[in-house]
Amino acid sequence: MKAPALIILLVSLTLIGYQIYRYSTLNQELIDAQNEFASSTLVFADKLKNLQTDLTKANQENIDLNDSLTAERDRNDNFEDQINNITDKVGVLDKLSKTDPQLLLKYSKIFFLNEHYVPPKLTEIEAPYSYQLNDQSKPEQILTDVWPYLKDLLTEATRANINLQIISGYRSFGEQTSLKSGYKFIYGAGTANQFSADQGYSEHQLGTTVDFTTIGVGASFKGFELTPAYQWLTDNAHKYGFTLSYPKGNNYYLFEPWHWRFVGVKLATKLQRDNQHFYDLNQRTINQYLIDLFD
Ligand SMILES: [Zn+2]
Repeated sequence: MKAPALIILLVSLTLIGYQIYRYSTLNQELIDAQNEFASSTLVFADKLKNLQTDLTKANQENIDLNDSLTAERDRNDNFEDQINNITDKVGVLDKLSKTDPQLLLKYSKIFFLNEHYVPPKLTEIEAPYSYQLNDQSKPEQILTDVWPYLKDLLTEATRANINLQIISGYRSFGEQTSLKSGYKFIYGAGTANQFSADQGYSEHQLGTTVDFTTIGVGASFKGFELTPAYQWLTDNAHKYGFTLSYPKGNNYYLFEPWHWRFVGVKLATKLQRDNQHFYDLNQRTINQYLIDLFD
């Protein structure tokens, strides 16, 4: 072999050797890198798993916390409801204790008012609405709590060109007694009993009941049921809490189209709607309306 060929061979071998060395070094670096990557991936996956566990735990704690918050809120609401309920009941009892149950009692030949019963406070019915029998006659009176309702009724009637007047409001036990004996004297006891309640049976003693008339009809009540005033009362009196006590064909007294009793707007409206009358209802049903008497 000639020298140059040997040199070329040696150089080639050296180059190949170097390439082999280079390759194996790079390969080792690659394996190392892969190993390193694999181990950091493992660590990372581990960390991720831990984080996920923590997150799930936190989520669960959050749910638990929310649940107890809701439960606590429910308990609070419940408690508040109970308090409101008690407050309502106290309110109802308080309101009822201030409302005279006599005001919605049915007075008949069985149930009657004590002779000492006097309404707690009476108001005089204003001049244009109080019927004057003569110059000496005193203004009629009505239970103070009922007056605003009656006043509204009279004002509305006037606005509708109906001139209503009160000829009889509150009547004491004594006044009823002398009125009745007067009627008995004039008409005889049998007839008087048909249209005038005995003392103690009269709704007038309550102070919640009025006899209406008009200037034209006057004190005799003759033909009152044919007046536009009576028609207006029939259509509208319930809006102000008044109801006709003795309608046509009732079992208590003769038809008294002028005699209206205050029973509260709610009950009067129910009676109007159901085409019923106060004395048609039983006392238990009526008593349910006592709480709303002045609403
Ligand atoms: Zn009357």
